[in-house]
Amino acid sequence: MNYYSLKNPKHKVSFQQAVVDGLAPDGGLYMPERLPVLPKEFIASLERISKEEIAFTVARPFVDLSFSDAVLKQIVSETVDFDFPLIEIEENLYVLELFHGPTLAFKDVGARFMARILKHIAQNSKQIITVLVATSGDTGSAVAHGFFGVEGIEVVILYPAGKVSTLQEKQLATLGKNIHAIKVDGSFDDCQHLVKTAFLDHDLRQSKFLTSANSINIARLIPQSFYYFFAAASLKQRNPLVFSVPSGNFGNLTAGVLAKRMGLPVHAFVASTNINDVVPHYIHTSEFLPRPSIPTISNAMDVGNPSNFERLLELYNHNWESFAHEIKGYSFSDDETRKAIEEVYTTKRYVLDPHGAVGYLGLKAYLKNQTGSTGILLETAHPSKFPEVVESSIHQKIDLHPSLQSLQTKPVMSLSCSTDFSDFKNLLFSIK
Ligand SMILES: *Cc1c(COP(=O)(O)O)cnc(C)c1O
Repeated sequence: MNYYSLKNPKHKVSFQQAVVDGLAPDGGLYMPERLPVLPKEFIASLERISKEEIAFTVARPFVDLSFSDAVLKQIVSETVDFDFPLIEIEENLYVLELFHGPTLAFKDVGARFMARILKHIAQNSKQIITVLVATSGDTGSAVAHGFFGVEGIEVVILYPAGKVSTLQEKQLATLGKNIHAIKVDGSFDDCQHLVKTAFLDHDLRQSKFLTSANSINIARLIPQSFYYFFAAASLKQRNPLVFSVPSGNFGNLTAGVLAKRMGLPVHAFVASTNINDVVPHYIHTSEFLPRPSIPTISNAMDVGNPSNFERLLELYNHNWESFAHEIKGYSFSDDETRKAIEEVYTTKRYVLDPHGAVGYLGLKAYLKNQTGSTGILLETAHPSKFPEVVESSIHQKIDLHPSLQSLQTKPVMSLSCSTDFSDFKNLLFSIK
């Protein structure tokens, strides 16, 4: 399978190259040149197939044969090495919990897969790969844990001093080993600027094999299709399926559309957003109007110009009617989100996080006019990652997840750096 740049369909590269590049040199996102359709028998017998086997079957057509079946099986098995429970909280309304990975959020899946793909590329090229990533919080921790202890890879994470939460800093800067956290005396934009400059620096490119672990990387996108199949495999009945996806950059939802194109019977998707509603707005009006993001309590979805929108447009042939026919869009305020957390807790004794609560509201809005469907809401993070919002919504304390508890005593081990590029460059050279 080759991948083409959305800015120039004639520019095609291998899977490996697309992963190493992240973005195409012309700045376009990579897309698979065709979408494989999985055998009908596979789809019909999902409930009898293990999650490792499902993940392998889904990933195989996307990954080139320099990854043998045995290697790819190992990679996907390690990627999905935690639970993906499907919990019925109302009749025909399920929560797919995607937060059982090391950082308690769905981004673990993409980060773990990408790390293991890069490990194999490092082995084949007999080079150490250095992954550079700038983060304002969550991406950094998923990448840190996804790549932790993976041989042949050094990870350098830049974050703005004093601008990530204590918990996020603990999650990304306490691991050690091959994970190097750098606290930059500046803003997130300064961190991103340092990373961009590094990729253009001649000396660095000469001496290091540099790549990024940006969320637009296809190696982070593809594995996010796996759990749409897992959800269908866990269901015993055969109603039309509706997935509600709490969305920001729309990678998760794009992966759902890929799953559908591969043959998973999905009736509709719900794009659920907070007030950063450019995609729901597009669905309702056919106008796409990116704008600066607005801060909300579901902050991982505070995106004003979603990067995967280009991929979605391509999947629907740039045709608004077919896009809007298959994807329904709803957006909700912080007040509505808090009320949903409270209501679900009071009536079902189930605690949603703020992102999942937006997904819940979107699903309920869609199902109101739709009987006989089964709704599945993707719960993208564990509620105890957002204790202040959750506790003030349900008016009581919640237990901190054990993995977050143990973090509290671990020392932060980050290096400090100014916004001066030469400072950063020296630091990079001091790492292996
Ligand atoms: C990143 C994130 C999202 C948004 O996912 P996209 O793929 O960017 O749409 C939703 N919820 C949580 C908890 C996240 O970390």
